[in-house]
Amino acid sequence: AVNLLKQSLNSTQKKKKIAVMTSGGDSPGMNAAVRAVVRTGIHYGCDVFAVYEGYEGLLKGGEYLKKMEWEDVRGFLSIGGTLIGTARCLEFRERWGRKQAAANLISEGIDALIVCGGDGSLTGADLFRSEWPSLVEELVKDGKFTTEQVEPFKNLTIVGLVGSIDNDMAGTDSTIGAYSALERICEMVDYIDATAKSHSRAFVVEVMGRHCGWLALMAGIATGADYIFIPERAVPHGQWQEELKEVCQRHRDKGRRNNTVIVAEGALDDKLNPVTANDVKDVLIELGLDTKVTILGHVQRGGTAVAHDRWLATLQGVDSVKAVLEMTPETPSPLIGILENKIIRMPLIESVKLTKSVAAAIESKDFDKAISLRDTEFIELYENFLSTTVKDDGAEILPVAERLNIGIVHVGAPSAALNAATRAATLYCISHGHKPYAILNGFSGLIQTGQIKELDWIDVENWHNKGGSEIGTNRSVAADDMGTIAYYFQKAKLDGLIILGGFEGFKSLKQLRDSREQYPIFNIPMVLIPSTISNNVPGTEYSLGVDTCLNSLVTYTDDIKQSASATRRRVFVVEVQGGHSGFVASFTGLITGAVAVYTPEDKIDLSTIREDLALLKENFSHDKGENRNGKLAIRNEQASSVYTTELLADIISESSKGKFGVRTAIPGHVQQGGVPSSKDRVVASRFAVKCIKFIEQWNSKNISSEDDGDADSKVLRFKYDAHGEKVPTVKHEDESAAVICVNGSKVSFKPIAHLWESETNVELRKGEEVHWEEFTRIGDILSGRLRLRAEV
Ligand code: ATP
Repeated sequence: AVNLLKQSLNSTQKKKKIAVMTSGGDSPGMNAAVRAVVRTGIHYGCDVFAVYEGYEGLLKGGEYLKKMEWEDVRGFLSIGGTLIGTARCLEFRERWGRKQAAANLISEGIDALIVCGGDGSLTGADLFRSEWPSLVEELVKDGKFTTEQVEPFKNLTIVGLVGSIDNDMAGTDSTIGAYSALERICEMVDYIDATAKSHSRAFVVEVMGRHCGWLALMAGIATGADYIFIPERAVPHGQWQEELKEVCQRHRDKGRRNNTVIVAEGALDDKLNPVTANDVKDVLIELGLDTKVTILGHVQRGGTAVAHDRWLATLQGVDSVKAVLEMTPETPSPLIGILENKIIRMPLIESVKLTKSVAAAIESKDFDKAISLRDTEFIELYENFLSTTVKDDGAEILPVAERLNIGIVHVGAPSAALNAATRAATLYCISHGHKPYAILNGFSGLIQTGQIKELDWIDVENWHNKGGSEIGTNRSVAADDMGTIAYYFQKAKLDGLIILGGFEGFKSLKQLRDSREQYPIFNIPMVLIPSTISNNVPGTEYSLGVDTCLNSLVTYTDDIKQSASATRRRVFVVEVQGGHSGFVASFTGLITGAVAVYTPEDKIDLSTIREDLALLKENFSHDKGENRNGKLAIRNEQASSVYTTELLADIISESSKGKFGVRTAIPGHVQQGGVPSSKDRVVASRFAVKCIKFIEQWNSKNISSEDDGDADSKVLRFKYDAHGEKVPTVKHEDESAAVICVNGSKVSFKPIAHLWESETNVELRKGEEVHWEEFTRIGDILSGRLRLRAEV
């Protein structure tokens, strides 16, 4: 984790001067990165300069290199594009251009550069670093500087941040801007879906991605597309047309009223002929479908960053400054990346090389290599896409004996991706010959009505973008009537169970596991996919629905801040959900630039409030001209029984002495989000398939190989007892009742028994560990709260 608090500039170190720039194509989140670099740098006592207009500004120098103050980046988080400008600069590709850039940096005393851009920008930066000593030597020879003047500038420190909507950098799960672009794509395809369904049309949507199919693949998964074309998986020349027709026709035959095909702009066939949206359209017209093409173009770059990109850019910006302070001349230039939930550093040049080798592999028609160079998540999701759409023609059907009955139940308050996960699980089940059974209206629904419904392809076909719960959810837990539940499980002959829910789901899983002795039917693999906006399931850092919730809060707070600029100075105290867990409040504070965050983990007392009032006053004292946005304080609903949202607002109002107004704002159920975010849809699909595989693996332990003497006719069978009943899959094996968890860079299945014993605070309905603790502190640093506290 980013251990920021331990880092500080020791007094003997010379004051570091760091420059930050954005380069190449703009991407949402670049501003958040610049804000984080500027404020973290200042926090550590560094001077931070912004380089305006990318490498062009570096060459021009002078006013293009601007020393940034704390206030200069106010409001950056909510603005799209890059406020310090970007450019493509041919001169920087030339050595003389880079020499001029070096002279400008030395003139300002700068010897560290944080570059946020794509692989081109980062290649340029690394080249600049490697040439630096010789460039400096030449500048001395040219008489531009004396040897003494360049003495402190022997080395240039470079740190890379990947700002790119394509998500094409090797070694990192996501780049700054990629999820914002994906969100725009999904919004647009959702709009298209409505008209396509009305007219029974097919739509071919072209998305960005010259050498990288990430956007097209993820959009395919998140929008329930019938078919995708990506550069890494070139389609067979002259044959793809038939397969495309087959898949679209099959889905029509199953009852679908529309078709969606996503084409990456760099899509190819295996003879390297481009496959364009119009080529695809022609094929679909041949099939008799009324087909339209939409090319999304620059819409995909547009707009403000989604929550994911705001926190990603913020945490990476913070780590980039930390890297600058830690690096020695021998340290290879690092690139800041992310694996699952963990901010990581990797050697910049190796990642850039690997990235470029994908394009080279495509050019040499080595498509297996091209896809193998993408990260494991990419390959896994590509396989899932095929399994749930293209190969639903029986290609992946398992032998009869291996086919399972899998129950799916939703427990607790709805969160955004319940349907998306259920859809993916169902489609995967169907293509493998399993039977997916929806338990309607949670455990109490089962107890009261016994309704278990086998889900069909057409039932779930359009659930990818539906909020709420189509199969119904309920807060009741399993223990309310274990016997009845066992009866219906037995009746449906369930071989496995997927629970989607939050703490009630977690509790239900524990109860089912504890009842195995009494009701042997529960000796089946059972798994919980944490799905709650509170993110309070013990043992994991990630929960479905959280991303959608944070997006809703980002939009909500952006709107109310904006409204304040139209009226007068105003503070909003925003009350957010989360129960006893301050995760949502802390993250909302981090990504909206809130002045103060109040959570159950950090107790509110009078001295905290006094400090926050001082910070608010200081903040308002800097507001001038158009920079008059509202200020935010975020309060978790359970942060304190005394300092209610209203009371906090009254205290702030009273002490403002009429200098600023105060309002409360309670987004309430808006936080559950209407439509799931693109990220929640993708993760829902990934986790759902992982969980079915988990159930398959446990069941396979129970399959015996029956030998009837003929070596060729060996069949796999489940074991049966003397009465002909199937022997329970697993006998009290704790590992078979588990929660799918994300911890740092790892995804794993953790046994509920262990989690309950050692990681659960049952009373407060959350985990013992506050895994977001450090991010709360980073939020405090970037809002200025920590600095002011130190001074008070
Ligand atoms: P995107 O992913 O949006 O295309 P990018 O950073 O890859 O972003 P490029 O246009 O390739 O975009 O590069 C941006 C700038 O970086 C170039 O205009 C140039 O100034 C510099 N640059 C790129 N490649 C090199 C290189 N090999 N040597 C020196 N400078 C380079």
